[in-house]
Amino acid sequence: MADGSWYDADIDHVIISEAQIREKTAELAKQVSADYAGVTDGLLLVCVLKGAVMFMADFARALGRQGPPVELDFMAISSYGQGTTSSGVVRILKDLDRDIAGRHVVVVEDIVDSGLTLSWLLRYLESRSAASVEVVALFRKPEAVKVPVPVKYVGFDIPTEFVVGYGLDFGERYRELPYVGVLKPEVYARA
Ligand code: 5GP
Repeated sequence: MADGSWYDADIDHVIISEAQIREKTAELAKQVSADYAGVTDGLLLVCVLKGAVMFMADFARALGRQGPPVELDFMAISSYGQGTTSSGVVRILKDLDRDIAGRHVVVVEDIVDSGLTLSWLLRYLESRSAASVEVVALFRKPEAVKVPVPVKYVGFDIPTEFVVGYGLDFGERYRELPYVGVLKPEVYARA
């Protein structure tokens, strides 16, 4: 259980705390700032809605004054799959607003599970002639990864469990939790 607010009632246990996320985000931003220090035309951060939205906001702010200038862009995709797994068959619901040809792109991801969605996305971005594409993912489930995806910056490796919070949902709920945790089994029984 977390700190007693109403929304904590459905959480069985916290996997990564709010403080750990804050610290790791600052660390990742420091690494990315250092690696892209020479990029004068700025970095294009690409967020895939909706799971990565919290991380995108905090990561962009953590880059802040230390990093190169950044622009933010968003894609919405639907990944066909059953229940809580993805199949890698992807449909674009909202495409990028900007032309990414010649740009240095950093994909800001919430979590790499099977890797199928990210693998599709990387092929898509590369087909649009970006100068470079790297990925920063706050979470990865190493034991679940089915396709090798080059994730240069990883926040936390976590167990192969379904998690919610900090942007990650179950049935569109729990995205607002400031930490990442596992739901109590009865929550699934209720759904
Ligand atoms: P993948 O294609 O790597 O299997 O899954 C990618 C997407 O599935 C992630 O970007 C995320 O939105 C969603 N996802 C994967 N694992 C979890 C999880 O444990 N909890 C939630 N809420 N979503 C997840």
